[in-house]
Amino acid sequence: MRILVDEEKVGWDDAWEITVRSCGYTNHTVLPEALETWPERLFAYLLPRHLQIIQEIDRRFLIQVKERFPDRHWKNDKIFIITGQGERQVQMARLAIVGSHTVNGVSELHSDILKKNLFNDFYVISPEKFRNITNGITPRRWLMQANPGLSMLINEAIGDGWKKDAEELKKLEPMAEDSAFRQRFSEIKKQNKNSLSGYLYKTNGLFLPPDFLLDCQVKRLHEYKRQLLNILHIITLYNRIIEGRTDEFFVPRTVLFAGKAAPGYFICKLIIKLIHNIAVVVNADPVVREKLQVVFVPNYGVTIAQKIMPAAELSEQISTAGYEASGTGNMKFMLNGALTIGTLDGANVEIREEVGEENFFLFGLKTEEIIKMRSSYDPLKYYKKNKELKQAVDQISAGYFSEGDSSLFQPIVSILMKNDHFFVLADYDSYIKCQEKVNMAYKDKEYWNKMAILNVARSGKFSSDRAIREYAEKIWNIKPVP
Ligand SMILES: *Cc1c(COP(=O)(O)O)cnc(C)c1O
Repeated sequence: MRILVDEEKVGWDDAWEITVRSCGYTNHTVLPEALETWPERLFAYLLPRHLQIIQEIDRRFLIQVKERFPDRHWKNDKIFIITGQGERQVQMARLAIVGSHTVNGVSELHSDILKKNLFNDFYVISPEKFRNITNGITPRRWLMQANPGLSMLINEAIGDGWKKDAEELKKLEPMAEDSAFRQRFSEIKKQNKNSLSGYLYKTNGLFLPPDFLLDCQVKRLHEYKRQLLNILHIITLYNRIIEGRTDEFFVPRTVLFAGKAAPGYFICKLIIKLIHNIAVVVNADPVVREKLQVVFVPNYGVTIAQKIMPAAELSEQISTAGYEASGTGNMKFMLNGALTIGTLDGANVEIREEVGEENFFLFGLKTEEIIKMRSSYDPLKYYKKNKELKQAVDQISAGYFSEGDSSLFQPIVSILMKNDHFFVLADYDSYIKCQEKVNMAYKDKEYWNKMAILNVARSGKFSSDRAIREYAEKIWNIKPVP
């Protein structure tokens, strides 16, 4: 607007039309820390002319809304771009919505949340702007480059058309019933586990027992992603092992974590510390280590992700429902034949739809339930009701994983018990029971491998080729060059 109006001397109305038709807004998360607001004062100081233009956009938008909806009462300045009394803020996401011809989320669930919750007033004003484009990943990097063994097996079975059209992976579906194919598929998974193991031993002295289920949670650390829920499961397994309470379906597993915390995110750095401390206790115990191992792979990035995804057997996608906009790690695991244990969050919902509910380990509260519980959630209720949960939280609290130091992990205990925005204790029971189903499934290797092959075969929707095509069609109205 500034360039068009000030430099090119275009009139306001024409400039505005050009601007709106030129801009599309993709929202990538509902977390408040990513929805930028800038103090009007700072704006006035740094970009005075831009601020004038934003104020004019705000003024005109309001007039237009009041004209179109003369009888509707808009609650507490929810549709202003510049909000608040005293220290006023410029709401950048709102400016983006008003100034764009389309607004999209990055999974079906996330786009629904934008319409129903976060941007509901703007949806009521301009429903025609809103659409969904589910994220995707590139099969060139995440299958061809990362997993040459599986790529070659797929090529032999169905040709290499999948490289340019991931929907062709569907042709693998019948191979799930072919026992010779299953055998080769599982050999490749074993080799990938071995080569990850060799790499981690060489680089970090970490060890992955080859026959253990490889259970992976690799993603940035954030409270909503709930590494803490995974930790509570590990402690529960540990207690069952040392107290001789494992049942006939118990499966030895390696729980692998990787991920970075933002430097200023104290609690997440403390969670990394807790994982390391639990790993020390678990891996040092001669009885426990035969059944459970915990590893934390440092310096998570794409390079190590390309080694972990092909080796993984279980994909942990356990965020609090409503918070993970899409996730793409979930898609990389699926494409490489890992099964997902997950909540109905982000693209997990669509992964489950594609692969079939019988091939997905679902647990946990749904988005609507989380929203309803927000005002009344009482973690203590869950703590008191479940003995194993109480035992695990008490151990963290008493210093069981910190050489008797009962103060180190108090900030974590305090969040879990008193101030948990992410409902960890509320989903504990459902998660533990679901992990027991995972064990039962893993006991039957043929059945597990069938499900794993179906995951690969049904992952075509999550190709970035499809996502990019949808941006071209649904937002920019452009056609591919011949
Ligand atoms: C795919 C990827 C992510 C995103 O993972 P999520 O599980 O979707 O959060 C983050 N970091 C790296 C290095 C990745 O490759």
